[in-house]
Amino acid sequence: LLYARAATAYSYETGNRMRQQSDDEIVDGLLDVPEGTKLQILAPVVRGRKGHYRELFEQTSAQGFERFRVNGEMRVYEEGMKLERYETHDIEVVIDRLVVKDGIRSRVSQSVETALEMGGGTLIANVVDGPEAVETGDHLFSRHLVDPETGLSYEEPSPNMFSFNTPYGACPNCEGLGTTNEIDPDLVLPHPEKTINEGALAPLGPPRDIWIFNQLEAVAEAYGFDFDTPIEDLTDEQLTVILEGAGDEQFDITYGYKGRDVKYKHRFGGLHEHIWHTYEETSSSKKRRRAESFMREMDCPECGGGRLKQESLHYRIDDKSIADLARMDLTQLREFVEDVPFETERQERIGAPIVKEVRERLDFLVGVGVGYLTLDRPARTLSGGESQRIRLATQVGTQLTGVLYVLDEPTIGLHPRDNDRLIQSLESLRDLGNSVLVVEHDRDMIESADHVIDLGPGAGTHGGHVITTGPPSVLS
Ligand SMILES: [Zn+2]
Repeated sequence: LLYARAATAYSYETGNRMRQQSDDEIVDGLLDVPEGTKLQILAPVVRGRKGHYRELFEQTSAQGFERFRVNGEMRVYEEGMKLERYETHDIEVVIDRLVVKDGIRSRVSQSVETALEMGGGTLIANVVDGPEAVETGDHLFSRHLVDPETGLSYEEPSPNMFSFNTPYGACPNCEGLGTTNEIDPDLVLPHPEKTINEGALAPLGPPRDIWIFNQLEAVAEAYGFDFDTPIEDLTDEQLTVILEGAGDEQFDITYGYKGRDVKYKHRFGGLHEHIWHTYEETSSSKKRRRAESFMREMDCPECGGGRLKQESLHYRIDDKSIADLARMDLTQLREFVEDVPFETERQERIGAPIVKEVRERLDFLVGVGVGYLTLDRPARTLSGGESQRIRLATQVGTQLTGVLYVLDEPTIGLHPRDNDRLIQSLESLRDLGNSVLVVEHDRDMIESADHVIDLGPGAGTHGGHVITTGPPSVLS
């Protein structure tokens, strides 16, 4: 929520600050040139796409717009006008041509609105000529977040853009996992002193009469090695062709078919491709696991482990992306939210109440002794005590009542100095009108209870009987 509402967007192409303007601000921007400046307002309708665009020219001129800028060149509509179908084009419609002077604001407003409608929220102000100081050329204005240099545009930010659990936020390459499986050559060739005949190609084992070995025989002949060459004696080129294939190169491959040798011309994709193919296509989970055993989990090259798509990783607060915050431990993160330096007053106004909530949750988490954890820590690696205390933190601040909380030794692994904090939070849940049932050995926790049920006398099968029940004082 904080990043969707109160962060600043930057272009992932150039690093420029993304710009977004209201229609009024666009009019102001257009008119912010010396009097006497000649400019045209253009609506970009085609950007880098192929086609002849005959209908586009025809229909637009029928609406009264006869002038176009096609691939940077001014053109006036003529009947049957069309472009080279198989080339890519940029087309802008000229909405208005004017000289800046007093009293034209309402005309400019109208033209801006028309241009933005036609241009899908974006327009180009093209300064043609003017007094000496004026800078000629294009200026891009947009209702969307736009990189003024390249025209890259972002959609309106929403909270799910910052969640790797949704397709709106997840990095498309790793689908939000932050890691991808890559083939590790050391796992494919674990014994470089061995030859192919000795089974050096781990995914394949020793040679036999199957297609991939038929392929390899042909490749070996073409590249000048044989199955008795130890892997470590192969040249880099030979090794590369075994692992990564030979592109489109065709080999004469001999294949035994019904007792006869048949020759095929065929390419060779390499062992890596073979492993990937098995991994992705096989319906046998055993084969799939085996293919996977030649891979290693690596940080996703596209998001760098940040798990979100590029756009989402380029929203920043104080130069930090949401992934940067997720990598901080909770104590550092708590320091960061103590005084967030928002960039604009608007961000400050919207962000401050959100940051206040974040601060409360972090205070609780740090208070119950998990300040060393990071937000990107996988939940499955947490201990039982850690995850219980974290789940409690999500309850603090909700105004739920009438809930029964059951906790199993929440103090496990907790430093004694943090006990009080945990007990306090359980008491505050009770005070809201909830019941808290805790299984505990911890003395402070037991003494803080309203009602104790003592089970025993021994542990496990030696216990299970209610020994006593009542306020904690019954135990003394
Ligand atoms: Zn990724």
